[in-house]
Amino acid sequence: MTAPSDSLPPYRPLSRSIAGKTAIVTGAASGMGRATAHLFASEGAHVAVTDLEQDASDAVAAEIADDDYAGSARAWALDVSDKDAIIRVTGEVAEAFGGIDILVNNAGFAIPGDWDGDYDAAWEPTLAVMLTAHQRMVRAALPWLRKAEHPRIVNIASTEGLGATPGNSPYVAAKHGVIGLTRGMAVDLGREGITVNCICPGPIDTPLVAAIPDEHKEIYAKRRVPLRRYAIPEEVAHMTLSCVLPAASFLTGAAIPVDGGLTIKNA
Ligand code: NAD
Repeated sequence: MTAPSDSLPPYRPLSRSIAGKTAIVTGAASGMGRATAHLFASEGAHVAVTDLEQDASDAVAAEIADDDYAGSARAWALDVSDKDAIIRVTGEVAEAFGGIDILVNNAGFAIPGDWDGDYDAAWEPTLAVMLTAHQRMVRAALPWLRKAEHPRIVNIASTEGLGATPGNSPYVAAKHGVIGLTRGMAVDLGREGITVNCICPGPIDTPLVAAIPDEHKEIYAKRRVPLRRYAIPEEVAHMTLSCVLPAASFLTGAAIPVDGGLTIKNA
């Protein structure tokens, strides 16, 4: 009888290293973007830390330099609602690092949508920063992603892309849109070997949710989240890293909850 291993191909190891790759992260001065920038640099990548203010981006790039990682960071001011700035900064990043392998669309904020108030004041910036900017960043980075060996795009959506919390409809619409855009781009760019995935974080303890009192967070987490807590942003960054590995070569169009079980709990 033939041993099974004689009839099977040899095991083919795939790379789990992003060392030497260039990544651009939006909204990287805080929360999940900052954690992602640190993690990628610690894995040997060269990271473009981009955020609204140059000082804030500089501070994270300086932290990364101080941490003596294998990779590196450089800082840019980039307001992703500014389409000319997206084109300019993406070009500068590609020139500074010699290309772009990885794009993480992460920048965001939360403005409630009040049906009886100035709804457009929430709708317009929310859609601009958390949906329109994603496609603009992708289009700006595409010339370099097309030249990359393992091109990867990750969009940070939300569990608000899978359901809806009351009072949050502009954000909910944008995040549902991110999942749709991710799927559309994955279908369109798949033939070029570019993978596009999105992550749907649940409750994550970042400055975005700093205004929620701790006791409210605890009550919510114990009632709604099987893991009974908020996550730290590093836990999301690790999923982002998993999506951008060369080995993540057959994962595309996915919307991956990182939510402590929030979205699978019925009661
Ligand atoms: P955060 O506030 O810590 O970080 C967001 C960053 O985005 C900030 O540094 C901010 O300056 C930047 N930003 C805002 N507007 C920008 C713009 N126009 N251009 C460039 N940068 C801009 O928040 P976070 O929780 O780390 O959020 C990161 C992403 O995760 C957001 O897209 C958010 O919607 C999403 N998210 C957060 C949670 C959560 O519970 N914290 C849950 C699900 C999804």
